[in-house]
Amino acid sequence: MFRPLGRLERMDSAVNKYDIWIAGAGYAGAVSARALAEKGKKVLVLERRDHIGGNAYDCLDEHGVLIHKYGPHIFHTNDKKVFDFLSRFTQWRDYQHQVVANIPDPAHPDRRGWRLQYPVPFNLTSMEEAFGKEEGKKLGDKLIAAYGAEKKVTILELRQNPDPEIAAIADYVYEHVFVHYTMKQWGQTPEEIDPNTTARVPVFLSRDDRYFQDKYQGMPLEGYTKMFQRMLDHPNIEVLLNTDVRQYLSLEEYDIFLRGAGMPLPVPLIYTGPLDEFFGLCYGRLPYRTLDFKFETWQARNYSAPGMPYPDMEHPLRCGDFFQTHATVNYTMDEDYTRITEFKRLTGQELPGVTTIVKEYSRPYIGTPRETPYYAIINPENNALYAKYKAEADKKQQLHLLGRLAEYKYYNMDAIAARALELAEELA
Ligand code: FAD
Ligand code: UDP
Repeated sequence: MFRPLGRLERMDSAVNKYDIWIAGAGYAGAVSARALAEKGKKVLVLERRDHIGGNAYDCLDEHGVLIHKYGPHIFHTNDKKVFDFLSRFTQWRDYQHQVVANIPDPAHPDRRGWRLQYPVPFNLTSMEEAFGKEEGKKLGDKLIAAYGAEKKVTILELRQNPDPEIAAIADYVYEHVFVHYTMKQWGQTPEEIDPNTTARVPVFLSRDDRYFQDKYQGMPLEGYTKMFQRMLDHPNIEVLLNTDVRQYLSLEEYDIFLRGAGMPLPVPLIYTGPLDEFFGLCYGRLPYRTLDFKFETWQARNYSAPGMPYPDMEHPLRCGDFFQTHATVNYTMDEDYTRITEFKRLTGQELPGVTTIVKEYSRPYIGTPRETPYYAIINPENNALYAKYKAEADKKQQLHLLGRLAEYKYYNMDAIAARALELAEELA
C-alpha cells in the first residue's frame, strides 16, 4: 500500500493504472480516497509529508506519550454519516472536551502563580466564578431573561446590548476571555477578524461545561494515525509518501499536463494543498496564521523536565501524574502562548510519572519550508485573492479542490470529512 518515491518515468507508464489522483493524505484526501476506492476506483494518493493523517497525525514522542504533532485534535460532530464512516476505522474513547480560561487571580494580582480559572465557553458557572456566587447568579438570570436559558450568544452580539448591566458583563467577558486571546491568535481584535471565528466559542447560558455540544464526541481509541492507516488500507488505494504532486504536473491555461510526458493528466485530480502554491504563487501569497508548538515533557514526581527551569511550586494546579486540571487550558489574558494542552488527558493514555504538554504560539505564516499554514485569515481582501486562484482552478476540468487549504476555509475535521464524502459521490 505505501510505496517509496515513484520516479517520473515509471509514473508516466503507470498513469493508466489509476482512475483518480489525490494530493494529500489528511482528512480530505484519505476520506475521499477510501470512498472512491469502495466505488471501484483505482486511487493514487500523493502525500508530500513522510506520513499520512495530515494535521490530525499523532505519534508517540520519545517518552512514549501519544502526542498530536500539529496541535490538539478533538473529534466532535452531529453528522451521523461522518461518524458512522469514521467508526468503521476506529473505536472511540468516550471523551467530552472541557476547557478552562486561566487568568491572574484579581484578588491577588501581584502574586505570581495565583490564578483563577473558569469554564470556556463562558457560561453560568464561569459567571459565578468571576463575580461571586450571588452576583453571578443574578447576572446569569438577567442574561437568561434577555436571551433565554441554554442559549448561545456570541460576544459580538452581547456587546451590542444597550442594557448597562449586560454591557458590563459583555465588557468583562470581552476583556477576560476574548480580546487578548484573539490578539495572540490572530494579531487582530475580535471586531477585526471574521465574526464566525469568535462565534465558535459563544457565551453559553447553561451549566453545561463542555466545549462542544455535538451528539458524537470522542477520541480515536488507538489514535488518529491508526484510523487513517485502516482507512487507506484498501486494494484500490496506493499511497506515495514524500511526494509533492506538483513535481509531476505542469499547468496550461485550460489544462493540467503530466510533466515530461507531453500529455494532459487523463484523470481527475483532487488537490487538498494550498491553492496559491499550486499556481506557483502567481497572484501572491494567500495569508495564513501558522503556529509554533512547544512540547514539554514533565516528570510527575519532582515536576522537573529535562533542560527546564524548576517550575513555580506555588502553582496550585500541578498534581499527581498530570500537569494541569483539564486537557486544554486557555491563557486568555497573559502569557505569549494561547493555550496549553495535555495529551494524556485527551487520549486517556495510562502512563504514570510522565506527561507531555504543548504550548501554542501563533504568528503570521511567511512560507518558509519549515512552516505549516494552519489558519486561513478570512476577510474580504483575502477572499478576493483566493477567488482569483479559484478562477484559474475552475478553468482546469480535471481539478477538484478539497480541504482547509485548497478551499481556504476554517473546516473542522467532521465538516471536511462530510465534503470529502460528497465529492466522492459526485466523482464516482
Ligand atoms: P490537512 O490536514 O492540512 O491535510 C492536507 C495534506 O495535504 C497534508 O498532509 C499536506 O502535507 C498535503 N499536501 C499539501 N500540498 C501537497 C502537495 N502539493 N502534494 C502532496 N501533498 C500535499 N478540527 C476539529 O474538528 N477538531 C479539533 O480539535 C481541531 N483542532 C485543530 C487544531 C489546530 C491547531 C488546527 C490548525 C486545526 C484543528 N482542526 C480541528 C482542524 C483540522 O486540522 C482540519 O479540519 C483538518 O486537518 C483538515 O484536513 P485537510 O485534509 O483539509 O487538511
Ligand atoms: N477565542 C478566544 N478565547 C478563548 C477561546 C477562543 O478569544 O478562550 C476566540 C479566538 O479568536 C479563537 C476563536 O475564538 O481563534 C475560535 O476558538 P477555537 O477554540 O474554536 O479555535 P481553534 O481550536 O480552531 O484554534
